[in-house]
Formats: sequence, C-alpha cells, structure tokens
Amino acid sequence: MEQQNEKPMPAEILKKKVQEIERIGGLINAPTWLIDELKTTKRVLRMEIRANVGGKLTHLTAIRVHHRNPHSTGDRPYKGGTRYHPGVTEDLLTVLAMDMTEKCALADLPFGSAKGGIAFDPTQCTQAELQKITEHMVMEMLKDNIPRHDLDVPGPDVGTNPTVMFWMYNKIAEMNHYGNPRNAAAAVTGKPINKEGIPGREDATSKGLLIQLREFLKMTNLELPSKPFLVTQGFGNVGSNIVRLSKEFDFLVKAVSDEHGGIYNPAGLDIKDIFNWYQEKKSFTDYPEADHITNEELLELETDILAPAAIENQITKKNASRIKAKIISEGGNEAVTSEAHQILFDRGIPTIPGIAANVGGVVVSSLEWRNNLGDHKHKVDFDDEHAWVNSELTKIMHDVIRVVWRKSEDLSCSMSDAAHIIAMEIIRDNLQSKRGYAS
Ligand code: NAD
Repeated sequence: MEQQNEKPMPAEILKKKVQEIERIGGLINAPTWLIDELKTTKRVLRMEIRANVGGKLTHLTAIRVHHRNPHSTGDRPYKGGTRYHPGVTEDLLTVLAMDMTEKCALADLPFGSAKGGIAFDPTQCTQAELQKITEHMVMEMLKDNIPRHDLDVPGPDVGTNPTVMFWMYNKIAEMNHYGNPRNAAAAVTGKPINKEGIPGREDATSKGLLIQLREFLKMTNLELPSKPFLVTQGFGNVGSNIVRLSKEFDFLVKAVSDEHGGIYNPAGLDIKDIFNWYQEKKSFTDYPEADHITNEELLELETDILAPAAIENQITKKNASRIKAKIISEGGNEAVTSEAHQILFDRGIPTIPGIAANVGGVVVSSLEWRNNLGDHKHKVDFDDEHAWVNSELTKIMHDVIRVVWRKSEDLSCSMSDAAHIIAMEIIRDNLQSKRGYAS
C-alpha cells in the first residue's frame, strides 16, 4: 500500500480536529460549554471479538463511538458508518463521528452522530468469515441495546457494503431484539433494496456530490469546458459511483485509482472498459489502455475537478501547493486536512469540504430509516420511489452548497470554514434555545 509522506497519525488527526473546533468556535465567539461538548465524545463502546481472518484465529476490537446529538430534543438516534480497515482507531472514529455531527446539523437531518469500525483488512477474509465477524460485533452491540432504530443506526463506510448491512439487520431481526420487525429494519441503513433498503442509497454519496458540483458550477460561473475533466481517487462505493455517473452529469474522467495506484488518460478514460477490467481483475495494475500513476501523482494532475474519495489525509500541507485541479470536492471524509483547505483557499482553488460534499449518503440513509419506520410500502414501482429519493437528495445538496457558498462569500473565507461555522452555529442555536444553556 502506498504511503503519503508524513501523514498525520490518527492521534494527530484528533488533536487537529479538536484545534479546529476551538478555532472555529473562536471565529463565532462560541460559548465555552459548546466547545467543551464538541471536543468530547458522549460514549465509546469497545468490544473484543475472536475471529478467523484468512483462516487464522485472531483477536479483533470493534469500536463504536457516539459523539453528540446536534439536535435540541436529544431523542434522535446516533447515526454513522461502520468501517472495516486496518487504519481504524478510536481516535480516527472519534474524528469521523465529529464530522457526522456537523453533517447532520448542516443538512438538518434527524440524527446525532456516531462512527464504528474494526481494525482489520476485510479483503483477507472469506465471505463466511466476514459474516461471522459482523454478526459477532452485532451480538456484542446488542448487549448495549444498539443498533436500535431510536438509539444508534449504523450504515456503511470504507470496507463495508449493503451485504454487510444486511447481515447486521438480519442478526438483529433474528434475535427478535425489538419485537416489531419494522424497528429491526430501521436499526441499520444501507441495506440491499430487496432487504428493506431504498433505491438510490448505494450511489447516494456520489450522486449527491455530482448534483452539488453541477449546482456549484452554475452558481459560481467558473470558466470550465462544458464537459469538465474529473479525476477521482478511490474506486470503492463513492469513487466508482462518481466515475459511473460521470457521463450523466457531463464530466469526462481522466484518472482513477485504488489503494494500489491509478490509471490516467489525458483524453479521458473509457468508463465501460475500466469497469469491465476492474470487475474481473479487482485492480488497475496491468490495465493496458492508460498510463499508470501513483496516488500521489493522481492528486497532482492537471484537471478541472478533483474528487478524493478514498481515505483521510490525502491532501495535506505537503502537497496542497502542488495541486493543479481548478475545483476540489471532498468525497472522502477528512481527505483534505484543515491546513490544506487554507492553502487551497489562499491559492484560489475552491474546495467543497467533505461535510458538505459527501453528505448525500446520510441524507438518503435518513430516507431509508424514515421508510423503515413508516407503514409498510408496497414497493411495486421502484422508479417512483427512486424519483422521490433523487428529488429529496437534489434539494438538500443544493441547499447545502448554497448556504456554504454564500457564507464563504460573506466572510471571505474558505468553504471549509464556512461549512464548519454554519454547522457550529446551528448546533449552538439548537442546544441553547431548547436546553436553556446560558450563552
Ligand atoms: P470503500 O471501502 O468502498 O472504498 C475505498 C476505496 O479507497 C477503495 O477503492 C480503496 O482501494 C481505496 N483506498 C484505500 N486506501 C487507499 C489509499 N491509501 N490510497 C488510495 N486509495 C485508497 O469506501 P467508500 O464507502 O467508498 O468510502 C470512501 C470515503 O468516502 C471514505 O472517506 C468514507 O468515509 C467516505 N464516505 C462514504 C460514504 C458511503 O456512503 N459509503 C458516505 C460518506 C462518506
């Protein structure tokens, strides 16, 4: 696996996130109680799991972090992805949960914020091993009454997918933990469509990002070709769906990558061909119809749009001055560090921050959750339901980018600062007015 030079370690990431909360709080003169709340987690659950990974008996630690409920009433469930990746630590999950607090505030979603995961490499496991690990984690969580539709609703993240989400849901249902089967379905989102999922969830993060990008281009009148070039890092759920949907949104993809490296064609890649290749080979290594590049090189390519959609700390103070993209949309959480956001802003490169750019996933998760909690719907017409999902997603992605852009213009600050300020102001106002805190 490639390594960026001098990447901050997760502990460093948490330190920086806390400094950011203090800095943003300082900009809006936020009360001390608010900063203190946002800097700490509500609770952390650690679960020890014996598991087989690639046929070897081993010991894994599953973690679930609850950060904050940005809403006034406190009766909304915690919500956040489940990450299976060797880089998982409690500090990293805490940062990602803190991002979720801001996302849910910014998009006005009825959720508090969480993140969970296990530090291991799921690609080393058989499907049966992966299912066992997932079910074991759920059994441990159920001892603490989560996942639960009104307490904590996990979704997918790096290394997990609709199948993993179905295993979680199925285990909860099998244990008949909450009696009502509707509640078991609503305890997990990102499920397959025919297993109480919702059409449009799987590509929601990517579609939301592209919908928002198009709106951003319209609002800002930036001079770009009618079919701008796009470079995407990461070819998992978010990255590959950005690439798959690029044609629909009139973008040409010139480079893609996964953790092993990328491919590049300055005239544009043949999307159908790369999907066929990747489906069979599971890697871009040896792909014959393009140049081969490292992930570092990919990030520094000349392009109209760059969408880092892999893992955190990809654009840092080390490489931000070398980025040549005209616009960046942060598909992956924390892909751009706060220092890099400032450098890019100073260089005049508009960068849509992750809490705004990738909020589409949790937006559609909220629709899935609402559907699951409601009366049973006869899903005879999936197209009809999909159209409803698309229209809600479009509205929210547009609203988010409009308020973020307006704020950044008003304050002459980066869109990252603007989004964090808006989120903190919303959280402050919600908690202040309803909980009776003194300001
Ligand atoms: P995924 O596991 O489906 O895909 C991750 C991709 O990143 C893979 O292609 C992998 O090869 C690549 N990758 C891993 N390590 C890398 C490295 N060191 N350098 C380059 N590439 C690397 O995960 P995903 O669901 O697509 O999530 C990607 C990002 O988007 C994460 O930051 C995640 O938190 C964020 N996100 C995901 C969702 C969602 O709905 N899945 C929603 C919001 C945000």
